[in-house]
Amino acid sequence: MSVEKKCLSVLRALFFPPRCAACGEFLQEHILDTESRALCESCRRKWEYAKLAVCKKCGEELSRCRCLPSPLRRAGVSALLKMVSYDKERDSVAKQCILCMKRKNSDAVFGFFSGQLAALLKGYLDETYTSEGSVLVTYVPRGRKNLLKSGVDQSERLAKGMAESLGCDFAVLIERGLRHDKEHKRMGGDARFAHAHKAFRLASCDFKAINKSYRCLILVDDVVTTGASLAACARLFEAKFGGRIVCLSLARTENT
Ligand SMILES: [Zn+2]
Ligand SMILES: [Zn+2]
Repeated sequence: MSVEKKCLSVLRALFFPPRCAACGEFLQEHILDTESRALCESCRRKWEYAKLAVCKKCGEELSRCRCLPSPLRRAGVSALLKMVSYDKERDSVAKQCILCMKRKNSDAVFGFFSGQLAALLKGYLDETYTSEGSVLVTYVPRGRKNLLKSGVDQSERLAKGMAESLGCDFAVLIERGLRHDKEHKRMGGDARFAHAHKAFRLASCDFKAINKSYRCLILVDDVVTTGASLAACARLFEAKFGGRIVCLSLARTENT
């Protein structure tokens, strides 16, 4: 970092001291760090601890669990990678982090969590002997209403940041439909699935070229709840893309 940039970042930190993404405490003690931080020491420890949780079905750590919910399997998805799991009804570092990303467009926060996703995906690519060059990263776009409210599409930022740090290509392949934006969150399981397939459509993209260059498509969503949105998006690719479709999420919710 250049001296000017460093001075600027110190000044910025003085006037707008960064806060922990989970508990909201000031992070002033790190004012001279070269890299801005997303979490305070205590929340960082809790985040690392949350990553050690195991899948109740297969007993593997969540990052290594390869259980695939049947709606995703039916949509042609090969794997669902996730890092932590949280209960929507209970307060936790994971839940706070996801909420913070929805509300705040912070470089430090997205930098940290994209890095976490990059490490998760790297593990899978190594495991399946897939080279970064044959991977195309895309994301499940957020509804217009939500986007207008906060101005940030957290899945897009996570996907872009992760692709950049792994050296993979990134593309916008999905758009939101014109209507059917609202109410998705309040719906129950079946209604969600019925609604989700109307909510997304393919962006104009050349699948011939995509099929030539890539063997693996990574579909990023910040949180998996029922998997309805991921399944709806994967279905759009099913007939067009010849390679593997892999879903990637920072967190999955437990009470679904
Ligand atoms: Zn904290
Ligand atoms: Zn599992």
